[in-house]
Amino acid sequence: MPPRTFDKLERKDVKGEVVKVDVEVEEPRTEILETKEIEAVKVKLEEAKVIVACGRGVEKKEDIKIFEELAETLGGLVGYTRPLCEDRRWFTEWIGLSGHYVKPALYFACGISGVIQHIAGIRDSKIIVAINKDPEAPIFEIADYMIVGDIYEVVPALSAAFKKLT
Ligand SMILES: Cc1cc2nc3c(=O)[nH]c(=O)nc-3n(C[C@H](O)[C@H](O)[C@H](O)COP(=O)(O)OP(=O)(O)OC[C@H]3O[C@@H](n4cnc5c(N)ncnc54)[C@H](O)[C@@H]3O)c2cc1C
Repeated sequence: MPPRTFDKLERKDVKGEVVKVDVEVEEPRTEILETKEIEAVKVKLEEAKVIVACGRGVEKKEDIKIFEELAETLGGLVGYTRPLCEDRRWFTEWIGLSGHYVKPALYFACGISGVIQHIAGIRDSKIIVAINKDPEAPIFEIADYMIVGDIYEVVPALSAAFKKLT
């Protein structure tokens, strides 16, 4: 039998008895001290129209704000490759074969080499823009737009350019 499957119990002809019980309900002993509004739930990566994804080219966790700025400018979300989550332990959820499968209208791959396990999760994106300082990086094989350069220069320049348009 496959795991998490069970035999159905046989029906037995058992009759139940309705018992009426008098219960005294006490006043609740809880008190409302403070009410807080629920934070708006962020759109999921799978639903994002724009994703700015960061790879091992990002040197420090605090540098993520550079990529958040671009994502925010375009109304999108930031995503990560697995090493930023599993190896560096900066985040918990990554994009790719063993993580989120995404297909946004616009996907920025920033400092991402383009290994097959990552590509498997992004290949159905409409437009892929890859930014990598290595012109031979495999990500360029599937990218619609190639930017050979340093993410620390290119991404802030893109944010500034898009801000002018919006
Ligand atoms: C079973 C299995 C499942 C996996 N599943 C996933 C998965 O779901 N998702 C996933 O992402 N990975 C997955 N991996 C890991 C995968 O094999 C790769 O190791 C990973 O995707 C590489 O991540 P990366 O591109 O961030 O890093 P790297 O491969 O190290 O690439 C970093 C890139 O950044 C570039 N770079 C560095 N500095 C700069 C800079 N300043 N400016 C511009 N470019 C720069 C470099 O040229 C390089 O191309 C899996 C691995 C295994 C074994």
